[in-house]
Amino acid sequence: MKPTKKFGVQIKKIMKISELNKKIKKCDKCGLIETRINALCGEGNLKAKLMLIAQAPGENEDKQGRMFIGPSGKVLDKLLENAQINRKEIYMTNLVKCTLPKNRKPKQDEIEICCKYLEQEIALINPGFLVPLGFYVTKYIFEKYSFPQFSRKEFHEITGKLVLNDNRKVFPLTHPAALLYNDSFKDIVKKNYKKLKILSFTCKWYNCCPLKWFYEKGKLDRKWIELYCQGDWESCVRFQMEERYEYHPDNMLPDGTIDEKMRI
Ligand code: SF4
Ligand code: SF4
Repeated sequence: MKPTKKFGVQIKKIMKISELNKKIKKCDKCGLIETRINALCGEGNLKAKLMLIAQAPGENEDKQGRMFIGPSGKVLDKLLENAQINRKEIYMTNLVKCTLPKNRKPKQDEIEICCKYLEQEIALINPGFLVPLGFYVTKYIFEKYSFPQFSRKEFHEITGKLVLNDNRKVFPLTHPAALLYNDSFKDIVKKNYKKLKILSFTCKWYNCCPLKWFYEKGKLDRKWIELYCQGDWESCVRFQMEERYEYHPDNMLPDGTIDEKMRI
């Protein structure tokens, strides 16, 4: 039987990722080679909609050469379980592929050299959503895709909020390891991770929603579809009103404002 085109594309992707992973495993491009045991490759579903990007491997990950197997991995598993997400559904990788001595923050030159691998992973997997975990990874992703910059203090304000730029959807989250040191914000972190499930599906009302019609007729900017209908539909005001059986006009946007230009 002749392989289908889709199957051929998938095989090519597997081959390219495996070539990339071989390069990562042998990499000696920065000083972190001195202190690492294993350079960690990404793991998971090559067709994933969600790509979780952590900062760098921890001690256990470095020893065993696997993603998220130490204490922060246990926290991640609980957060994913609570969100009803299986590790097999997602792709996980690191910004810096080798462990950082004493868990220090990554240096700018280490990020600049190592991020080339992440860029290739993003291009190959092409996930619907990039999910940077923690401040440094989010800062890198925001810079790369020209999102507004933010300070350390402002980081918690952008976690759990979907943003879109350059056709890239980014959903920053708190790194699970943060809960090992301070679990006072556990509830908000759990709530934000639960959104990963929301992002995995298109809104159930999409096929009969007037906004789909407006979009297909060129009367609605694609950003509304990306950010809400095929993104965080739970935050859509129309969706919330629909669920409460409340009247809402056809020209109401997902943020609740009325667009007078939209007329059927
Ligand atoms: S951190 Fe990245 S660039 Fe540095 S040695 Fe490891 S894989 Fe290579
Ligand atoms: S506009 Fe809102 S209710 Fe309509 S499909 Fe999009 S998310 Fe769902």
